[in-house]
Amino acid sequence: MTKFTAVLIEKTEDGQKVGFTDFDENDLMDGNVTVRVEFSCINYKDGLAVSGLAPVMRRWPMIPGIDLAGTVEQSAHPDWKPGDHVVLNGFGLGETHLGAWAEKARVNGDWLVPLPQGMSAREAMAIGTAGYTAMLAVIALERHGTTPDKGPVVVTGAVGGLGSVAVALLAKLGYEVVASTGRTSEADYLKSIGAKEVIERTELAGKVRPLAKERFAGGIDSVGSTTLANVLSMTRYGGAVAACGLAGGLDLPTTVAPFILRGVSLLGIDSVYCPQPQRREAWRRLATDLERKKLESMTTEVPFSGVIEAARQIVDGKLRGRHAVRIA
Ligand code: NDP
Repeated sequence: MTKFTAVLIEKTEDGQKVGFTDFDENDLMDGNVTVRVEFSCINYKDGLAVSGLAPVMRRWPMIPGIDLAGTVEQSAHPDWKPGDHVVLNGFGLGETHLGAWAEKARVNGDWLVPLPQGMSAREAMAIGTAGYTAMLAVIALERHGTTPDKGPVVVTGAVGGLGSVAVALLAKLGYEVVASTGRTSEADYLKSIGAKEVIERTELAGKVRPLAKERFAGGIDSVGSTTLANVLSMTRYGGAVAACGLAGGLDLPTTVAPFILRGVSLLGIDSVYCPQPQRREAWRRLATDLERKKLESMTTEVPFSGVIEAARQIVDGKLRGRHAVRIA
């Protein structure tokens, strides 16, 4: 009988309880690849799961953690062999399938991507789902035809994980980045990772007009709600906005005016069930288009023992950038 340390969320009469446990390997769910987890990270969704603020988990008890980087221990999958270095984002990890905040995970080999050449497990989890989603959003804007010469691109929730990686990626690709934040005290940080201009989030929080002054050629939004609606109404003719998140709310109080009068496009971004070709492309691009020094400057390493507390803080909007969790 092999046991290992894991975080476990269990249902209780008045809600849920979260803590560390010695988990029996025999109790892992079905899968054809067993991975020794080296790093995981903290995403907004992990914060929702740990705090019980939204119904993220579809199975009880659950090991949370939607991202892992580690080494294959055993494999019955044709693509993977012991010793391979792998990354997994989403596919229900930490939601429907026992997740990443554990020393071991047993998963479906179809969900894995290879750790990009020259990237460490720590760097992959400093990127994590938030960063890989930012890359998907950048690729979506590019496919739409949003090029740096079209004008400034706004990133909302810019001090957060997704926002920080989006700022760094866009800046490296030559875009003029306008970073929107509730924490203007972090303006120097945002400029150091590539923002040209930092605006106070209240500028995007007022009453939504069907059409406002055309300001942005595009946007990457991690906030949703009124913020996204205002960004849409401020997007220039023919521009596009990638909708990634809901940190400010699930609603979208907009009108059809930006779409039918300015030809603005709203691009939906899903990381969880994103097909393999797109996720592999995103990881390839992250290996080349995200400056490692900037990634390091936005990353805080959290010991495994601190993961629960850090996850509680993310939903309070208290964390800056990305948090990689050292599991091994
Ligand atoms: P973070 O908590 O790191 O970032 C969220 C940021 O949003 C905060 O840092 C803050 O930025 C801003 N924010 C928080 N609350 C509010 C509010 N009430 N009003 C306006 N702005 C607010 O989270 P992540 O970067 O991990 O995730 C960001 C969002 O993207 C989440 O909603 C998450 O669920 C979603 N997401 C979606 C994915 C997908 O597949 N589509 C994948 C990954 C994430 P600041 O301090 O700068 O104002």
